Amino acid sequence: MNVQDLHSIFLEFPSVNTDTRKIKKNDIFFALKGDNFNGNTYAQQAINNGASYVIIDQEEYYINDKTILVEDTLVMLQKLAHYHRNFCSAKVISLTGSNGKTTTKELIHAVLARKYKTIATVGNLNNHIGVPLTLLSIKLNTEIAIVEMGANHQKEIQFLCEIAEPDFGFITNFGKAHLEGFGGVEGVIKGKSELYEYLIKSKKSIFLNADDPIQLEKLKNYTKKYGFSSINSKYYKIELEDAQPFVIIKVEDTVIKSKLIGAYNFHNCCAAIIMGKFFNVELPEIKIALEKYTPENNRSQIIKKNGHYIILDAYNANPSSMKVAIENFNSLEKTNKVLILGDMFELGNSAEEEHQAITDLAKTLLFENVLFVGENFYRTQTSSIKLKNFEELKAYLSQNNLPANSSLLIKGSRGMALERALEYIQ
Ligand code: ATP
Ligand code: MG
Repeated sequence: MNVQDLHSIFLEFPSVNTDTRKIKKNDIFFALKGDNFNGNTYAQQAINNGASYVIIDQEEYYINDKTILVEDTLVMLQKLAHYHRNFCSAKVISLTGSNGKTTTKELIHAVLARKYKTIATVGNLNNHIGVPLTLLSIKLNTEIAIVEMGANHQKEIQFLCEIAEPDFGFITNFGKAHLEGFGGVEGVIKGKSELYEYLIKSKKSIFLNADDPIQLEKLKNYTKKYGFSSINSKYYKIELEDAQPFVIIKVEDTVIKSKLIGAYNFHNCCAAIIMGKFFNVELPEIKIALEKYTPENNRSQIIKKNGHYIILDAYNANPSSMKVAIENFNSLEKTNKVLILGDMFELGNSAEEEHQAITDLAKTLLFENVLFVGENFYRTQTSSIKLKNFEELKAYLSQNNLPANSSLLIKGSRGMALERALEYIQ
């Protein structure tokens, strides 16, 4: 079956699913393959659960006339998404970067939804499967689609751009994340810049964080750009008024009091503001959208427990986000500060150096207590407490009461799942 015919079916049944456990009536089931599963084997179950059609790529799983056999299910999913994206009239905004993509995506979505029919990436579905699924959630009346693109190696963003054909783009930042797959910081800059390359080649518009010297340099000769800055008067002025602990922003005569902590969230908000301005969302509407937004899923959340003030930032960590989170925590006017930091993964050859740098940074700042958790931190030279794994942290927290009214920052890579520590904080 060619993509055009499949798209006609999709218009009749405009909902796609890749997981039979979550199938809804009339979904089209795409049987994808992973390292540990073969979706083809779930085709019958998908039909039983109400799928309108199943797309498979192994003939032996053919069931009935609801089965569509293609050469490669994943490739077909990507082609269908690309076809659908061009079939619809929605403008596509893509964003990538090392840190803050999901937060920024949610903020942009909140702002643009005040005026337009919008869709955005659900959660963190930002890869070669998630991006097609996002594009397939565009409705015929959608005006703007906000698409998060993630990558951990070269050419990935380029590939996602070819599928999504963005009209607009934004890079949150270039940082020390996924160093292993990208081959160092230079590799990160190169890999993320594939979004710029695509947009420049197709003469599309770029939103620019002009506070970032790398972005400024990369785009210095490109004219179709819309920038904001807190320091450079050539660009739309947005200022950070305060971050104690919540980010407060001043733009034109409007003060926006967000529920986001950490000065690092300032630029995430700026991206949403500049896009709101570009698409003619009134400033009072932008303010409402940003003030309403609260982070979730352990992304810089504030939790109060037994009189302690806890910044739970256990969703993920890499050297860049770790550094800004520690510095932000240090700047807060709080008492009895305790750091609980877990290992940062995917750093390849840089792992030793980057973990050492974080312990060195913590040493220069005045914290009441610092706990490092994980095998990487365990190998560093530090006089702080080192715990080999979560079990040791659990034991430590169970045996040692924190001083009354402590303030904590809890952060580590997803694999460390440090949100589990909450339970043991007395
Ligand atoms: P992923 O790579 O998992 O998709 P992401 O880029 O979507 O991550 P978010 O989920 O928005 O990022 O945020 C994850 C964490 O990154 C936050 O909890 C915070 O600690 C940190 N972070 C968010 N924004 C920034 C930023 N602009 N600079 C540095 N760190 C940030
Ligand atoms: Mg994300």
